[in-house]
Amino acid sequence: AARLCSGEAQVEAPGGDAAMLRHLARKLRASGPVTVAEYMREALTNPAQGYYTRRGGIGESGDFITSPEISQVFGELIGIWYISEWMAMGKPNTFQLVELGPGRGTLTEDILRVFNQLASVLSKCDVSVHLVEVSPKLSEIQAALLTGGKVQPNPDDKSAYMKGVSKSGIPVFWYRDIQGVPPGYSFYLAHEFFDALPIHKFQRTEKGWREVLVDIDPEVPDQLRFVLSPSRTPAAQNFIQPEETRDHVEVCPEAGVIIQRLASRIEKDGGAALVADYGHDGTKTDTFRGFRNHKLHDVLSAPGTADLTADVDFSYLRKMAQGRTATLGPIKQREFLRNMGIDLRLQVLLQNSRDTATREQLLHSYDMLMNPEKMGDCFNFFALLPHHRLVHPGKIDKPESKSPLPPVAGFNELLLK
Ligand code: SAH
Repeated sequence: AARLCSGEAQVEAPGGDAAMLRHLARKLRASGPVTVAEYMREALTNPAQGYYTRRGGIGESGDFITSPEISQVFGELIGIWYISEWMAMGKPNTFQLVELGPGRGTLTEDILRVFNQLASVLSKCDVSVHLVEVSPKLSEIQAALLTGGKVQPNPDDKSAYMKGVSKSGIPVFWYRDIQGVPPGYSFYLAHEFFDALPIHKFQRTEKGWREVLVDIDPEVPDQLRFVLSPSRTPAAQNFIQPEETRDHVEVCPEAGVIIQRLASRIEKDGGAALVADYGHDGTKTDTFRGFRNHKLHDVLSAPGTADLTADVDFSYLRKMAQGRTATLGPIKQREFLRNMGIDLRLQVLLQNSRDTATREQLLHSYDMLMNPEKMGDCFNFFALLPHHRLVHPGKIDKPESKSPLPPVAGFNELLLK
């Protein structure tokens, strides 16, 4: 199963590796409770014991499966989205494809295959790939897939920690942080990335807003529990809006900072960002959950051995773009993929496949991506685009003098000329 939003999977019994739990328990005993964000950061990306650092179990044999791992069609349609935007923006002669949290590298691989198939269209364009990945284990898997493992660690290019060349000859660079990626015209991609970033959790009480913290249970050795902060924490002061009506709120400031950076870069250097994830538009309350072996996992049990995640708040991302770019969406995955022509692509693949097993596999993966009960409804697409991509700068003065701008594919039907 994918990490479905409804969380219908059974809860798995705790157990497994205790190193991270011991480390956290020592820390909590020494200096008191930590925010959920700090707990999540440790559990996921601690350099020695973090889940993504050591386990990173994406795929059928891991802890959760993602759309690019389900069907190659997913990445192919996203590749077409970038080409369609590149064309709509006047075919600039160079662009960087920047993926945040590339997992096993499958999505980039599928996109690069489309770029290669459409090499005649992109012939005069200089393309490079820039991957932002904290996990050494996953970056190794990405390098093996994209470059056949032929990579150079710590290259002279200052900010990258690794570089290589894709099978089709495109240079590929790895960074730990988006800030390392050189400036320049860029197409950004974040698929199931923002949901992995640390969230703060807040609860409304009779005494006002309190932050949910993680502490050690005094009754049971090495067991973690949630507690409420005795007073307003700095995070509660900064992140809760006065007009907030919910009783329980999750905020991901790191997502806000990254969106600000993407929006500033797009405003300055051009390009676009496509964000795809499960999430809501500022309406949900308690979405923090864990996954291990494709089952829901208690977030406080055996940290470091399970994926921890929370729904993305798209209204917060929109706000954090601060008007530097236009935003589109969120739009449901099934609508986005339908607009991108998934039905036609499925028909072609079905016609070209001879054996029943392949045809069944194609239909099954289509159903996973598109069925509203599966990934079709709870996953969303959201984009940042330069203002001029949606409105001619001089449109207000002389509306009739400009030809209409091409619609943005995915959010509208794909029209490739
Ligand atoms: N996009 C992939 C993987 C999603 S899992 C897919 O859809 O299959 C989340 C990815 O983000 C992993 O590659 C993980 O190692 C990476 N990641 C998590 N936190 C990160 C951070 N703070 N900075 C960079 N990468 C991070």
